Amino acid sequence: MSTLQISDLRASVAGTPILHGIDLTINSGEVHVVMGPNGAGKSTLSAVVMGKPGYEVLGGSVTLDGTDLLALPAWQRAQAGVHLVMQYPSEVPGVSLDHVMEEALVARGRSTDGLDALLESEAARIGFAPDLLHRALNVDLSGGEKKRNETLQLAVLQPRFAILDELDSGLDIDALRDCARRVEALTNDTGMGALVITHYNRLLEALRADVIHILVKGRIVASGGPELADQLERDGYAAYQTGDDADVEPVTAADRPSSLDDLFAL
Ligand code: ADP
Ligand code: MG
Repeated sequence: MSTLQISDLRASVAGTPILHGIDLTINSGEVHVVMGPNGAGKSTLSAVVMGKPGYEVLGGSVTLDGTDLLALPAWQRAQAGVHLVMQYPSEVPGVSLDHVMEEALVARGRSTDGLDALLESEAARIGFAPDLLHRALNVDLSGGEKKRNETLQLAVLQPRFAILDELDSGLDIDALRDCARRVEALTNDTGMGALVITHYNRLLEALRADVIHILVKGRIVASGGPELADQLERDGYAAYQTGDDADVEPVTAADRPSSLDDLFAL
């Protein structure tokens, strides 16, 4: 069993503090979903955990089975077993997907035997056109093809933890179902843990959430079971928003609307 532990994580972007103390503990096989309004810091959280340049960690820690991830460059975090599916996957002209997968496996000390067959079968499984395996990574792909491509990479690399930043953005309903099912299968078959950032319940129809967290203005203001996502779909984030910009205090049991209370009895 592995554990990805985020403790009191605080970070800024371009000199502005965005994350104000995030605590999340994700174990193997668990799916933790982070929902929140635009600008809440969801992508910032994913970027800081993965080590994307341009983000300054102000305090706190991120560990994978005790290893300090924040001390490592992004590629070593990936080697350690964390994989980020970006909200907007990068296009990489001149570098094909199959070569990326080959190099990524080699960098992890894993065998590339049978890689071509594996790529073909994974492509078929999620409806990714096989000729795209040999084309430049993400170049000229549709939004749906890019996300199928990212999902295929997850399936081949089988990281210990995946962070999915709005896997659903740019996806049509068929691609969403295919990708969500594949990720769900990885959590069940390989014990992959997942931190899933999304706005939509639809993703969670095929990808079963264990815990939902609501992120508002850089803080997790509530956590609960899957019902919390239904509640959000009905009522939006109004109950969790405050008029104050920088210093939102976490919602406590006392000031949470009473109708929500049963949702927190995990
Ligand atoms: P979310 O993913 O929840 O919509 P983000 O993490 O992308 O939110 O953004 C959180 C806040 O940080 C926003 O106010 C956004 O404008 C700001 N931000 C994100 N990236 C940058 C950046 N590179 N430079 C300046 N501000 C940024
Ligand atoms: Mg975002």
